Amino acid sequence: LARNPGEGEFHQAVLEVLESLGPVVRKHQHYVDEAVIERLCEPERQLIFRVPWTDDQGRVQINRAFRVEFNSALGPYKGGLRFHPSVYLGIVKFLGFEQIFKNALTGMPIGGGKGGSDFDPKGRSDAEVMRFCQSLMTELYRHLGEYTDVPAGDIGVGGREIGYLFGQYKRITNRYESGVLTGKGLSYGGSQVRTEATGYGTVFFTEEMLRLSNRSLSGRRVIVSGSGNVAIYAAQKAAELGAHVVACSDSSGYVVDEAGLDIALLKQVKEVDRARLSAYADQRPDASYVAGGRVWDVPCEVALPCATQNELDAAAAQALVTNGVLAVAEGANMPCTPDATRVFQEKGVLFAPGKAANAGGVATSALEMQQNASRDSWSFAHTEERLRDIMVGVHERCASAADEYGTPGNYVAGANISSFLQVADAMLSLGVV
Ligand code: NDP
Repeated sequence: LARNPGEGEFHQAVLEVLESLGPVVRKHQHYVDEAVIERLCEPERQLIFRVPWTDDQGRVQINRAFRVEFNSALGPYKGGLRFHPSVYLGIVKFLGFEQIFKNALTGMPIGGGKGGSDFDPKGRSDAEVMRFCQSLMTELYRHLGEYTDVPAGDIGVGGREIGYLFGQYKRITNRYESGVLTGKGLSYGGSQVRTEATGYGTVFFTEEMLRLSNRSLSGRRVIVSGSGNVAIYAAQKAAELGAHVVACSDSSGYVVDEAGLDIALLKQVKEVDRARLSAYADQRPDASYVAGGRVWDVPCEVALPCATQNELDAAAAQALVTNGVLAVAEGANMPCTPDATRVFQEKGVLFAPGKAANAGGVATSALEMQQNASRDSWSFAHTEERLRDIMVGVHERCASAADEYGTPGNYVAGANISSFLQVADAMLSLGVV
């Protein structure tokens, strides 16, 4: 703690992993003797830099950007960039730390990293976003490469931003190095299903959890939080599998649509018009919009938090339990506070932590890298099948590690233990580096 002052989210993420590792270090003392945990908690490299750019009024604006290259034992650093005014080093480190374990869980050869900036894209014109992205990449490019560090999107960074970032990387380096960024558009090296992957993967993981207890998603009442990339495609896949998805949110409020969310309208409002969620209710007379409220008060059997960290606290968890929730899967990174997670676990609610449930996004990014490396492009159906298989594998790794280490059904412990063992063993094999 003293080494990383003021980085609350990073402390929270580290503590959650450490709390799971007791049975592991009791059984395998050499992880302690060789300081593997201390090494894992210290990023290999951290970059902080200034991003100057000019707005549409000709004023110079200054933002701060970060890239934390956390761990490359399994492969090149891999993890998204987040553009949001709340971004500071503690958030980027928490996300980068989580990413190490998430990437290991996918079973693919990718290390962990994360980046971002306190730039707020809301209300900015396309030209402003482009100038910002170009300025950011003018510094970041020297640290990237398909064998070194491969960013992708996250909050505030979607296809538009990845396009501008890739364009500037290509221009500066004079290299068409497709595998240096993922989440690219389909016309220039992107993969089918990458846009949908995180939300779809979260739902596939949820299905696996329910299947093990002889239940399914079909006919269940579902709510999602957020209305961005992860939320939209989680809602879409849940609906395709027969669920009744009745609510979603943004940072201003939430929508309840008892007829079932109209996914096409949601996409139009959020992806095409880039409008606020209230515009959905304006165009759908039977839906209601609740300004400032908490979506967790809407009764459901399955809750998918897909917005941001610490958005679901113990009181919200209690409200969900009282209303009969059966399963919660984190589409976002660390959306449930530690107290909320405890409420779910104590009340017997199936609970999937983000590093397992939302691993489908980065896994499909790795599939994009595979396609780029082999100059190939796969069909939607084939890529979705690969994603499904990967999520079944992630679920299996979590469930069997939880069984083996004496906490059956505890996906938090299972995810942390399984991924820790893989990364720690690789680190030990590579020596003190
Ligand atoms: P988007 O920017 O597409 O959407 C974010 C959504 O969350 C928006 O609806 C936004 O509402 C809401 N939100 C953001 N910040 C807050 C806040 N402080 N309070 C309340 N609501 C908020 O991001 P993504 O969908 O890509 O990411 C969502 C989560 O999923 C993040 O935790 C991200 O790290 C995680 N994730 C994303 C992956 C991906 O592939 N995109 C992969 C794995 C994890 P508003 O518009 O009002 O800000």
